[in-house]
Amino acid sequence: RSLYLHEVHRPCSVMLLVNPHSGKGQALSLFTGHVQRMLNEAGVPHTLVITERQNHARELVREADLSQWGALVIMSGDGLLFEVVNGLMEREDWEEAIQTPLGILPGGSGNALAASIHHYSGAQPVSSEELLVSCGFLLCKGLVSRMDLASVHLGSSPSNPTRLFSFLSLAWGFVADVDVESEKYRHVGAARFTMGTLVRLASLRVYKGRLAYLPVDEVDGEEEDGQSPVSLEMTSVSPQRQPPSSAFCSSTFLCRPLKDSPCQNAAHHAFKAKKREPMSANATLPGPPDSLLVPLDQPVPSDWVVVPEEDFVLMLAMYQSHLAKDLYAAPDSTLDDGLIHLIYIRAGISRTALLRLFLAMEKGTHLANNCPHLVYTRVRALRLEPYSPKGVITVDGEVVEYGPVQAQVHGGIARLITR
Ligand code: ADP
Ligand code: MG
Repeated sequence: RSLYLHEVHRPCSVMLLVNPHSGKGQALSLFTGHVQRMLNEAGVPHTLVITERQNHARELVREADLSQWGALVIMSGDGLLFEVVNGLMEREDWEEAIQTPLGILPGGSGNALAASIHHYSGAQPVSSEELLVSCGFLLCKGLVSRMDLASVHLGSSPSNPTRLFSFLSLAWGFVADVDVESEKYRHVGAARFTMGTLVRLASLRVYKGRLAYLPVDEVDGEEEDGQSPVSLEMTSVSPQRQPPSSAFCSSTFLCRPLKDSPCQNAAHHAFKAKKREPMSANATLPGPPDSLLVPLDQPVPSDWVVVPEEDFVLMLAMYQSHLAKDLYAAPDSTLDDGLIHLIYIRAGISRTALLRLFLAMEKGTHLANNCPHLVYTRVRALRLEPYSPKGVITVDGEVVEYGPVQAQVHGGIARLITR
């Protein structure tokens, strides 16, 4: 049974991280203007933390005493949540830390996760301000669900890869270039992606590389990471027809404020860092072992599919439905389906056809467009080896080290306030 705010579970307060520079630079005033009163009326105790610089939030959650906080909520774009997720996964106690319920309030220019949870709640697309109110409302309701993360290896040094955790997307080619180039249109807010797309269309180019993936069917039926196999039906339903979540993956975290609530500055209490032990055979990094991946300097396992073409316009791996508010890129995706929704577009597509796909993406009909250059497949893991020495790869919209990259999904390892 679902529990709501007044059905007290445990005392807690919310750390609300705001990036004052996100979006058009109005995140703080948007928060005070649209959400703060709602939270106060719903009795959600919260402490505002204004980030001072890039990686401030990452360092803060890496060191925070998480027992003081019922949830970590981000009022920014996806970039700040990316910091928080990685800060949690860098902790020695990552397994417990990543259980901290996370929340998102769209305050940036790229609010893909906020758009996704709004969509999963069954609501129709809305304006940016309405999206903020919708997410504020979901936060007040305080229902928590499981969310997939992908582990991403970046390997200029294959034996010692950098590992990141991603909740949204891995992009290369057209989409990644738009992500970066549209930074300069930040002042127009979410429309920055539309502008970036139009500009990039004018200078459309081909990206060369090798793409390989582990198809879903290959591991279906196997007990992998304790996850049950995902049935076709489960992954192709509309949000309204989503199977109800089990008691395990849906719980209420919010509660009435305690009279003697804990120190509101608990975020600043340092977590005593201990020496990190290797967590698995394949990595000296904290976090779950990536059982589906082999080192980047070894060929992919034999059950992987190597894409025959090597000329692409884009590669986009998504684990949630929306790439931006108006880019419903992976319509089949649900919060914790344990799948990477892989879309790639082969070179040779005309500008008109590509534009048509992006326009169709607003309604999520691009996959049903019968475009011969577009391939959509659901996978557990993938590897991309770009050939050109320079280029752009983004993870959750953030630029990462360019070069060979591979990823595998970890079904439902994080928790997000949704519905
Ligand atoms: P947007 O969607 O507008 O890009 P993000 O939340 O993605 O908003 O933030 C953009 C970038 O700003 C991210 O890389 C984030 O890490 C970084 N950042 C966070 N806080 C600050 C800050 N106080 N000053 C500068 N950059 C910050
Ligand atoms: Mg961003």
